Amino acid sequence: MSLITFPASLETGQPADTLRWAAEQFGVDGLVVTASFEDAVLVHVAATAVPGIEIVLLDTQYLFAETKWLVDELTRTLDLNLRIVHPLPSVQPDNLWQTDMEGCCAIRKVEPLNRSLEAKRAWVTGVRRADGPTRANAPVASYDIGRNIVKLNPLAAYTDDDMALYAQLHELPANPLTERGYPSIGCWPCTRPVAPGEDKRGGRWAGSAKTECGLHG
Ligand code: SF4
Repeated sequence: MSLITFPASLETGQPADTLRWAAEQFGVDGLVVTASFEDAVLVHVAATAVPGIEIVLLDTQYLFAETKWLVDELTRTLDLNLRIVHPLPSVQPDNLWQTDMEGCCAIRKVEPLNRSLEAKRAWVTGVRRADGPTRANAPVASYDIGRNIVKLNPLAAYTDDDMALYAQLHELPANPLTERGYPSIGCWPCTRPVAPGEDKRGGRWAGSAKTECGLHG
């Protein structure tokens, strides 16, 4: 794919505008959204702006039951075009997270993600600058050279208040873990609640130097 020029309006527009622009550029079938179902905002924006857009859930074998509940709830109420992508058949629950988190994420997140992006032209994510220091400069639109795909972060500029307001306006269900102190939600072995004032992603891979799973850097 050749590099494209992104309109400056993507940085200042609404998240739904980014999705609609992407659908015009790449076609609905050329888009894929990866959603952690930490909250409902990204899938609501995507599914209402571009009905039928593919939403991918990477099932790492270690998702919280609460996250699975939200997946079922949103799939039903928003009529999501949901695709659950599993690790390769050779990957079975193995406790690798206890000894090799990089290796565990590589086979349960990175490889399934790369498979999910095959034949797609743009990848839509829920990355926000407010997620924490490692994402503070995330653009709305960029080109992932390593994966050879356009990467769109339509919620990049959304603050926590913006997310809460959007969820309230659209009466979206929340992941039950949120009110139990989990502002960032991944796999259960590697996610703990955070203390008031602590970095939102401080509960991810706590006690290790790891800050990202390899999907976003
Ligand atoms: S977040 Fe933890 S359990 Fe999930 S894939 Fe990565 S290391 Fe494994």
